[in-house]
Amino acid sequence: MRILVFNAGSSSLKFGVYDMGAAESLCLKGSFDRFRDGSCELKLTVGGARHDAVLPCADLAAAIAAVPGLMAAHGVSGVDAVGHRIAHGGPGFAAPARLDGPTMAEIEALTPLAPLHNPANLAAIRLAMQVWPEVPQVGVFDTSFHLSAPGFATTYAVPEAWRAAGLRRFGFHGTSHKYVALRAAEVIGQPPERLQIVSCHLGNGASVCAINRGRSMDSSMGLTPLEGLVMGTRSGDVDPGIFGFLSRRLGLGVAEVEAALYNDSGLKGLTGSPDMRDAEDRAAAGDTAAQLAIEIYAYRARKYIGAYAAAMGGMDALVFTGGIGENSASMRRRICDGLEFMGVTLDRDRNMRVDLADRAAPELQAWGGRVRVIVTETQEQLQIAREVAVSLRAAAPVRLSLPVAVSARHVHLSPAHVQALFGGPLTAEFDLRQPGNFAAHQRVRIEGPKGGFDNVRVLGPARGRTQVEVSRTDTFALGIEAPVRQSGDLDGTPVVRLVGPAGAVETDGLIIAARHIHMHPDDAARWRVQDRQEVEVRVSGTGRDMTFSDVTIRIQPGAFTEMHIDTDEANAAGVYGAAEGALIAGD
Ligand code: ADP
Repeated sequence: MRILVFNAGSSSLKFGVYDMGAAESLCLKGSFDRFRDGSCELKLTVGGARHDAVLPCADLAAAIAAVPGLMAAHGVSGVDAVGHRIAHGGPGFAAPARLDGPTMAEIEALTPLAPLHNPANLAAIRLAMQVWPEVPQVGVFDTSFHLSAPGFATTYAVPEAWRAAGLRRFGFHGTSHKYVALRAAEVIGQPPERLQIVSCHLGNGASVCAINRGRSMDSSMGLTPLEGLVMGTRSGDVDPGIFGFLSRRLGLGVAEVEAALYNDSGLKGLTGSPDMRDAEDRAAAGDTAAQLAIEIYAYRARKYIGAYAAAMGGMDALVFTGGIGENSASMRRRICDGLEFMGVTLDRDRNMRVDLADRAAPELQAWGGRVRVIVTETQEQLQIAREVAVSLRAAAPVRLSLPVAVSARHVHLSPAHVQALFGGPLTAEFDLRQPGNFAAHQRVRIEGPKGGFDNVRVLGPARGRTQVEVSRTDTFALGIEAPVRQSGDLDGTPVVRLVGPAGAVETDGLIIAARHIHMHPDDAARWRVQDRQEVEVRVSGTGRDMTFSDVTIRIQPGAFTEMHIDTDEANAAGVYGAAEGALIAGD
């Protein structure tokens, strides 16, 4: 499947053509920049060689119209789909979407939230539809990756009526953060689900993202791409009180303040130039305004890195990308200096000798440094091509039925904890449907700082590590915040007290179980799903049918194929007792 990708900005157009078969390969990529006086600069890479030129293209329309000719000139003909980067997808686009009248109207309605970006994205879509009318056009949204962030990270503490109107934090650069997190995980040699990564995308726009076990937990950008770091022309964080101050002191209106925060702030506001290279050159020549700008830039980034390590409760890797993150050794150094107490130690030589050719992702931490420091070139276009390919393959869904079971709160115990709580082995009251598992006669009390639950069922047999599974509602009754985890993934989970007839123990392992499907290998083969693949399941209960996304497949020899949800999920879907699920898997 050959995919052409466009990433249109207000004054530039990046594009790439990728073959997305069993292996991924780049056919060509390039950018059109500096549209002026009827011409623009083309940077084009084909097979590792550069073919830069000045072309007679006055605007975005001419640039897009020139792409088929450029492709043909380098022996690349025909595309199966066109993918478009779209900055703001609001709360409605959690996945790539086929672009048609209604989806484009939705994107247009979000323009006030990304006034620099969404209009350019829409213009590129309309033009591409004229040049490639026969092939699907698919939008991939910068915001989608962050829709997994928890409510406490996405909610502003503002009046209810404002939140009801849609005011919330979104986050951007999602495609870039996702790509670099996957690349970092590849380099580290662990699945992303096991890693806590802070990703710094430092380009003209800039954001930091906390990627907790493969999912975006928080991002420095908010409702709009204005919040957070110092950027080329955008301010990043300011006190919302500036609106009142500027209105009273300078007589400025809301629109004027907003325009200046987008266009005349950041590095441009501090130094006169939006370009970090200018700031670095001027600072080196003794310009104190440029020196201060660089200090503010690094300080703000360092604050976010510390905050996100704290938010996740750890950091395995710190990743730099974007024009500044990839190219400015001095800015990487400024940001990392002072983070040694968190395990971030930069090897100064490696930091100076970075070569990012061929998707390289070199590690820059000093020998023995606990946190991996990785730099890599972001490949938003490649990531968009991947997501377009996946969405097109999944476009013809197959529906498969399976039973849905509800897991009430329960406990799995280690042999040592069985002994400590009961003074003897577990005894089976009845067998569970998963072979070898049973509900024990034994019960425990679970206790947290706020309250507890008596008579909580123990499931046997004993296993390597104690695991306490509760619902999110239960966590409030206990007074302990628990993460959503797959069974067995217990590192860094909170401690809870268990009380049995023979004694009490304090143990980590408190989780909200992530919804999952136990699947027999034969069913997995028949339904063409892989272990750990995430699928959607439509659950039919008693009149409140709903579709659950992010349901993880767990293939186990001899398993009874069945989906497990917890009591909160069951209540939401109106499931009381047995229910049926329809699995919507990729074709
Ligand atoms: P965009 O967000 O528009 O894709 P980029 O990721 O290309 O932008 O980042 C542009 C920024 O990267 C500019 O501020 C530019 O000055 C900076 N930059 C590029 N190369 C270097 C370098 N060698 N040293 C410092 N900054 C650099």
